Amino acid sequence: MTILVRLTALILVTAAAPAMAAQAQPNAGRPDLVIALSVDQLSSELFNEYRPHLTGGLKRLAEGIVFSNGYQAHGGTETCPGHATILTGSHPSRTGIVANEWYDHNAQREDKEIYCAEDESVPGSNSRQYTVSNVHLKTPALGDYMKQADPGSRVVSVAGKDRSAVMMGGKAADLRLYWNRGTYVPVGNDKAPPVVEQFNASLSKAIATPRAPLTPPAFCAAKDRSVQVGTRSFGTHRFQRAAGDISAFQRSPEWDAATLALAAALVQQMQLGRAGHTDLIAIGASATDYVGHGYGPGGLEMCLQLASLDADLGSFFDLLDKSGINYLVVLTADHGGRDIPERSGIGRRADPSVTARAVGVEVGRRLGIPGEILVGDWYVSADVPADRRGEVVATARQILESKPEIEAVYSATEIAAHPLPTTRPENWTLLDKFRASFDPKRSGDLFVALKEGVTPIQAGGTGSVAGHGTVWDYDRKVPILFWWPGVTPQERDDSAMTVDILPTLAGLIGIKVTQDIDGKPLDLRGGAPID
Ligand code: ZN
Repeated sequence: MTILVRLTALILVTAAAPAMAAQAQPNAGRPDLVIALSVDQLSSELFNEYRPHLTGGLKRLAEGIVFSNGYQAHGGTETCPGHATILTGSHPSRTGIVANEWYDHNAQREDKEIYCAEDESVPGSNSRQYTVSNVHLKTPALGDYMKQADPGSRVVSVAGKDRSAVMMGGKAADLRLYWNRGTYVPVGNDKAPPVVEQFNASLSKAIATPRAPLTPPAFCAAKDRSVQVGTRSFGTHRFQRAAGDISAFQRSPEWDAATLALAAALVQQMQLGRAGHTDLIAIGASATDYVGHGYGPGGLEMCLQLASLDADLGSFFDLLDKSGINYLVVLTADHGGRDIPERSGIGRRADPSVTARAVGVEVGRRLGIPGEILVGDWYVSADVPADRRGEVVATARQILESKPEIEAVYSATEIAAHPLPTTRPENWTLLDKFRASFDPKRSGDLFVALKEGVTPIQAGGTGSVAGHGTVWDYDRKVPILFWWPGVTPQERDDSAMTVDILPTLAGLIGIKVTQDIDGKPLDLRGGAPID
């Protein structure tokens, strides 16, 4: 029995919700419920590799309308920007969510680093212990347009990561929930229904029970091979877990199972899709990203993660089928990723001198400027006098361009002067990609592209062994899948973008997008994007 079924069984016993018995009201041919799923770090490469082995919910979606070459088109392929594109129809340059963190030298607090999903105006908030908020998202999302069209529509988002829940929830969601050290908690003043407390109690019991190693399916056998990176080895972990180990729970398929079980419980208790309106639930399955960062996406661990997610999604859809709700699903990812060079034999790790801090030290030495020179993702520090910032940018650029790992370096001024690209994403230049990630107030002073295959993650340490965030297609390409009951299957090799999802869904559910966006509706009958 999967974790999902186990948790859901507990909820069905404790919640005694009347929803399953209620009859869905007719909804004029539109879907009753839109389910928008993001699988964090599910690259096109992973989806295509595992597709032949799918048997559950991912298989169901893979038998719908499949854009296997979808794009998170922008250059800064991180989680927060990626999630913000999915339901807003807009690149980071329009959503304002250009990175997971940025620097604001004018912030009214000592810590000038701003987390994308925080409200730094709340006293006591800092980039590590922050107040979760959507205040930085500049654009409406699908749920906002749905509510504009029909105030009776309800909008819920639930995710492992707070930034996923916030960015897919938009500006006016009814309920956003995210994982906070072992329980799911609401964002801000969002009012959680009683089922959340009951669910958290069930979840605590599940976490308090130790987990035996998972048994890999036969197709994972070839992945079950140990690879050494520095002093650590990867590739053979089976997700056994000690009782009460929250951190191990979070780095395993159990986490997504819990998020999906909570989503199922919310659909049930809130009676989503049953009131004659079209409702939305956005779901952020975050474990794939933790497994990818923690073990690299090429080992047994990812095989077990995706096999489990496939099975748990299958259980999730089975529950929805039983409810009789007419639902529509879109699934995509916030970015891709790439395996560790030690296993794949492709690419290499960047030298530790290719960091803002290290380059900043060298710039300071050359220019005779004391203190911190460069911080974060290439910001000139507030310590640098205003009349020397130009020199700092030019010198940093010179240093970076001499390094073998660097493909290109641009200044913010150059990116700002470049027009937003309007061509298809496979043809985008580096300038195009960076421009789509550019916000004049939030972006760094330098845009640095590593050469293809170079990862900035060092081999030592105890944190991530693999990463993403680069301008290259392995970090940009993600599947985009549409499914609803009776959908005519389509295999599409045209390059959809995640910003095309919003206008496409708006067309499918019959609502208007009333603000400027970057995406275009995809013609799901089989043609190219509609211009
Ligand atoms: Zn991510």
